[in-house]
Amino acid sequence: MCLTEPDAGSDVANIQTTATRDGDFYVLNGEKQFITNGGIADVHVVFATEDRSKGWGGISAFVVPKGTPGLQEGTVWKKMGIRASHTANVIFTDCRIPAEYKLGAPPNPAAPPAPAPSAPS
Ligand SMILES: Cc1cc2nc3c(=O)[nH]c(=O)nc-3n(C[C@H](O)[C@H](O)[C@H](O)COP(=O)(O)OP(=O)(O)OC[C@H]3O[C@@H](n4cnc5c(N)ncnc54)[C@H](O)[C@@H]3O)c2cc1C
Repeated sequence: MCLTEPDAGSDVANIQTTATRDGDFYVLNGEKQFITNGGIADVHVVFATEDRSKGWGGISAFVVPKGTPGLQEGTVWKKMGIRASHTANVIFTDCRIPAEYKLGAPPNPAAPPAPAPSAPS
């Protein structure tokens, strides 16, 4: 499951990975970070934004099978613990998938923008 990015951990609405519709396909571009079994899983479920102006309302999930051109393993993290679990970045470069690999309903254009994060107290 590819959600976290270098600049989007807890603040998932800030993800930068994009999904651009191109006819019967979507094209994914971006980098995911700290992904369990990243780059080696049979299937990656990737969260990407179709419209950043809609905040979390523009985010959708996509199925990307292993071996899809444009899916590449990035940094493999050497952790202090949980070392039996593979943790890596995953890079998507013009990664093209059929439009039906999008999961769930289309983004809701009426969804409110994500609330501003509150300061830690
Ligand atoms: C071993 C491992 C496996 C992982 N596997 C996956 C995976 O398979 N897929 C995936 O998508 N991600 C995965 N992750 C990433 C994980 O989901 C993120 O690390 C997590 O969401 C936190 O994001 P971050 O590391 O950017 O920390 P940050 O969001 O930067 O948080 C850093 C610290 O700030 C605190 N903080 C953040 N925001 C606030 C706030 N508003 N108020 C108060 N405190 C705050 C947090 O509690 C934390 O202590 C994995 C991480 C690890 C370590």
